[in-house]
Order: sequence, then C-alpha cells, then structure tokens
Amino acid sequence: MIPEILPTYNRAPLAFASGEGAWLTTTTGERFLDFGAGIAVNALGHASPDLVGVLTEQAGRLWHVSNLYRIPEQERLAALLVEHSFADTCFFTNSGTEAMELAVKMARRHWHAAGQPERSTVIAFEGAFHGRSAAAIAAVGTPKMTEGFAPLLPGFRQLPWGDMEALEEAIRAPDTGAVILEPVQGEGGIRPLPDADLRRIRALCDETGALLILDEVQCGMGRTGRLFAHEWAGITPDIMLVAKGIGGGFPIGAVLATEHAAAAMTAGSHGSTYGGNPLGCAVAARVVEIMTDPAFLPEVNRKAGLLRQGLEGLAASHPGIFAGVRGSGLMLGLECRIAPADVVAAGYGAGILTVPAADGVVRILPPLNIPDADIAEGLSRLDRAAATLAL
Ligand code: PLP
Repeated sequence: MIPEILPTYNRAPLAFASGEGAWLTTTTGERFLDFGAGIAVNALGHASPDLVGVLTEQAGRLWHVSNLYRIPEQERLAALLVEHSFADTCFFTNSGTEAMELAVKMARRHWHAAGQPERSTVIAFEGAFHGRSAAAIAAVGTPKMTEGFAPLLPGFRQLPWGDMEALEEAIRAPDTGAVILEPVQGEGGIRPLPDADLRRIRALCDETGALLILDEVQCGMGRTGRLFAHEWAGITPDIMLVAKGIGGGFPIGAVLATEHAAAAMTAGSHGSTYGGNPLGCAVAARVVEIMTDPAFLPEVNRKAGLLRQGLEGLAASHPGIFAGVRGSGLMLGLECRIAPADVVAAGYGAGILTVPAADGVVRILPPLNIPDADIAEGLSRLDRAAATLAL
C-alpha cells in the first residue's frame, strides 16, 4: 500500500521538534549539531530571535495580499537586493525551482522580443541541479532526473562541467540564447568553477549576446563568503536565481536581472499567487540587512578558515575515509573514499548532520553565523563518526 506521504524522499529515521542556532533537538530529546542547515537554507541558524521577531510582527499584521496590489515589504526587499547586486529588477518566487522556470522564460522572451526566437536553446552543465520542474529536469537531462517523464521540454543542451572548448563552440551555435550554471555546484559535489572560466564564459556571452544565468540558489547569500559567489570572479550575470538562504528557512526565492535581460517581461507575462508575499519578503529583507552589515561577511570568511583547517586535519587523520576538502567559504565538501551516505549515517550516530552529494562528497554547510565553539564541537563529532567507520 502506498504510504500517506508519497515516498519520493529517502528519509533518515530522525524527526526534529525544535532548533536553536546550529542545534536541532529530536522529538525524543536528542541534540544534533546541524552542519547541513537544511541544505544551505538556515543561513542564520534555527529560531534566530531576530528573524522570529520580524516574522511574528509581520504575521500579526498582514500575511497575504495579492500581487494585484503593491506590496511594500516586496518593494523594500527588491530595493535592498538591487542596492547590493548587479541587478536592476527582481521577481519573487516561493522556491529555487520557480526562479529557474522564470529565468528560462525570461531568456527565451528576451530573444523573442529581439526578433530572434530561434535563439531559444539554453546551455547547461553536467552535474548541475536546478530543481525538479519540467524545465529544470530537461536542463540537466540525466536519466536520474528525467526517466519516465518524457516528453521533455526541448531547447536545452548539456555540456561537460568545465569543458571550455565545448562551450566555446556551443555558445556560438545560432540557436544558443543563454547559458545557465552554478558558480559552485552543490548537488553535483561542491564543485567550484574556476574564476578564470567564469570570466571566460562572461566574455563569450558578451561576444555572442547569450545571456549568462547564474544559479546561486545554493552558493549565494553569503554561503561562499561573498554575498553572491560570482563576486569572487569579478563578473556579473545577466540573470541570477536565489532562494534557500535568502529566507533563512521561510520559503522564498527570487530572480534578479539586468534591465537588458528583463525588458521583455511585460505585464501579464509571468505571475505567482504567493511569490513575494509579505511574510517571506519581511523575513528576507531582514536576512539581506544582516548579511550586508559590513561585519557579517568577514566573520563568515574567518569561520570558514577555521572550519576548513579543521576539516583538512580531519581528512589527514582519516586517510582511509577522506581524500581531502574542497569548496569555498562555508560551502565545503569532504571528499570521501567510501560512500558519502555511510559517512553521513555515521554522523547521525555521533550527533551531527551533514549532507551527501554526488562525486563522492559529503557537504558541510553550517549556518553562516555558527559560533566558533560549535565549529570545534562539530569537528570533534565528525572525528568520532570517522573513528566508528575506521573500525
Ligand atoms: N538550484 C540549485 C543550485 C539548488 O541547489 C536547488 C535546490 O537544491 C534548486 C535550484 C531548487 O530549489 P528549490 O528546491 O527551492 O526549488
């Protein structure tokens, strides 16, 4: 018999009742240190008093108004994002996947309005993850994502990750309209694209007019130590997706775009009932304010240094289990010599949550404001977990 909840997730036998900072407590009272942060969502930890205050104040005043009307909280969040990014304009969604959908629509509409509707192909990369909608699975195109869901949405072309030669050729194809990539692949195994490659892709897009879409759903919002990961390479995209960390746990996403990329998205061309609702926008505006405080990101980078050094030490002490550490900021990956799922499961036994990824990697994605003492505690729990695997 099919269970009451559609069994699409492989769930661990853990259920949490409450959280505080980097800690979660199960329904039976066990405490876990959260080095996964809901897969980079709880960027400011659990039950942040600041965010709880903003959410409850907003909840007591106004939950929902339709996008038929102006929404002051949405306007405030858009102004903050525009102030702190390359973007001229924002559209708010409820998730990263919805942001992906709009990015694809925006790119195609851009070329439609330019009188070149044949430039509808979006180039994506092997190892990418952009969500589970029809466009997002077609973009990635792997059997794991697409099996049984044909016919797939046409107009996507996949290239090997980091294959700049293939990209140089594909981007000049007459039907190419856009390129989408994660500056640091998350689900793909914490794989950063070298800054030089990102700069080269930007230059190729400038040359051909193709729109550069960056999916910063996982690597954005302070995760790599800059507000947006592309800032490390000194380039800007035409369109960017954010979600996850921007709501600190409240479901909200956004598409940020230049006027050039977005100009064809005129009234009636897109919409969402809940996208940009006052609750999400009030919380996200506070998240952006906190992350753009001049003291915030230097602290993320300092903590990232501590954590990385500790993880390198951990990998060196367990060479049979770990091959090394990779990633950027507080988006780190432990390269495993054994199945990542076994490392994650051993972590459960030691009271620490981590997240498996592809490419033999366990993701370490703690809250960005994790106290130093919790970093040290997490490292010692990971060491304990590794010791049980070495037995
Ligand atoms: N893009 C990236 C890079 C992601 O990591 C994810 C989710 O993991 C998504 C898109 C989809 O976001 P959501 O699950 O909020 O729809």
